[in-house]
Amino acid sequence: MADHTPPALDFDGLRPPSPFLTERHDGWRSQLRSFVDTHIAPNLAEWDAASDFPDSLYLEAAKAGILGMGFREDLGGTGEDIDLWDRIIFAEEFFRLGSGVVFADLATPWIALPPIISGGTPEMLDRVAKPVLAGQKKIAFAVTEPGGGSDVSGFTTTAERKGDVFVVNGGKTLISGAMKADYLLTAVRTGGPGMGGLSMLLIETDRPGVTRGPVPGLQWYNRNNGWLGFENVEVPVTNLIGVENRGFAGLAGQFNIERFSGISATLAMARTCIAEAIAFARERQTFGKRLIDHQSMRHKIVEMIQRLKAAYAFLDILVWRFQRGETPVADLALLKVQATTTLEHCARESLQVLGGRAYTGDNRVERIYREARIFVIGGGSEEILRDLAAKQMGF
Ligand SMILES: Cc1cc2nc3c(=O)[nH]c(=O)nc-3n(C[C@H](O)[C@H](O)[C@H](O)COP(=O)(O)OP(=O)(O)OC[C@H]3O[C@@H](n4cnc5c(N)ncnc54)[C@H](O)[C@@H]3O)c2cc1C
Repeated sequence: MADHTPPALDFDGLRPPSPFLTERHDGWRSQLRSFVDTHIAPNLAEWDAASDFPDSLYLEAAKAGILGMGFREDLGGTGEDIDLWDRIIFAEEFFRLGSGVVFADLATPWIALPPIISGGTPEMLDRVAKPVLAGQKKIAFAVTEPGGGSDVSGFTTTAERKGDVFVVNGGKTLISGAMKADYLLTAVRTGGPGMGGLSMLLIETDRPGVTRGPVPGLQWYNRNNGWLGFENVEVPVTNLIGVENRGFAGLAGQFNIERFSGISATLAMARTCIAEAIAFARERQTFGKRLIDHQSMRHKIVEMIQRLKAAYAFLDILVWRFQRGETPVADLALLKVQATTTLEHCARESLQVLGGRAYTGDNRVERIYREARIFVIGGGSEEILRDLAAKQMGF
């Protein structure tokens, strides 16, 4: 018989039941939660304040079978037999606490490594993939340029072929993990203008002519985010990843993975916000009754839950469609807008419920409020994704 007990209004209880999640997924979630609770939660306040985390976390994550999620076992991964839910659960568990300080850097291999494994030379498996998955080397995904990130067709970093090398000139900015990266998967212009002239190139950061530095004033989460400069950097032509001048096709596939992670992260943070708001509103007394007994406060909370449930229903059905081989790009773009604006709403409203308490450091809401904005920009901004959806729909 179905259980009609209402779920607890905490982080787990706020996830609407999904017909697609299995016991295996629950096991993966427990493994991740235990890792986050053991290795990240106790240090989070300190890492937040320092905008950094120690390199040992990469090694711990590799040892715990987390860094290698979904990669081939012979490369040190956990095996390719995973599904989209496993990635979603990963993002949810890392963002349960609003720990953006670590996630972007730890999850970059998901985006940067697959094109290298499938489209690079065999020696890159030993030299790049294995040490990255072992947590010994780091990789960044360097696409955005100082002249703009949304308009990929306008990228100006060039890689000019001269004999056995490409000579790279230009620069990138806002790149997660740039300050510590040993390798960069970089979008470069090898051909004419537009999307058609772009290629993906592996660039080692110790090559002469590579410079880097922190993005001045970046406040968000992590001081390892930085800019990169390339001045006559000579890169062997064997570092070309995939097919010359067809780099955009490779990028687009990676963007889908990035979008699902962003969506899952935002909905997890929305759940944390709502759970904190509910817990506080049940305790706090104003004007002789609990906050939650004031109708306007109750409505705030219920509206947050309403928006969250709508976003999860959309997510569940979209994952199901991708897993059966469809690629509904327009819907994925719209879901990202739906999820990120849901988080913006929940962060604002839960912070309002907490009032001044939000700023006293004993809850995650204020931090999530600050982190929420980046998700509406990175991985495809709201405007660009709406336009992408419109184009896909044939407008
Ligand atoms: C913390 C952080 C981490 C990041 N990590 C990485 C990373 O690891 N690798 C990487 O490559 N990049 C990274 N980025 C960059 C991110 O991908 C870009 O910020 C994003 O793609 C938007 O590009 P932009 O900031 O240059 O904005 P622009 O392209 O200059 O656009 C500015 C604004 O105008 C809007 N806009 C642009 N064109 C249109 C249009 N045609 N119609 C309507 N509105 C439009 C955009 O939506 C945006 O709101 C990161 C950014 C941040 C803040």
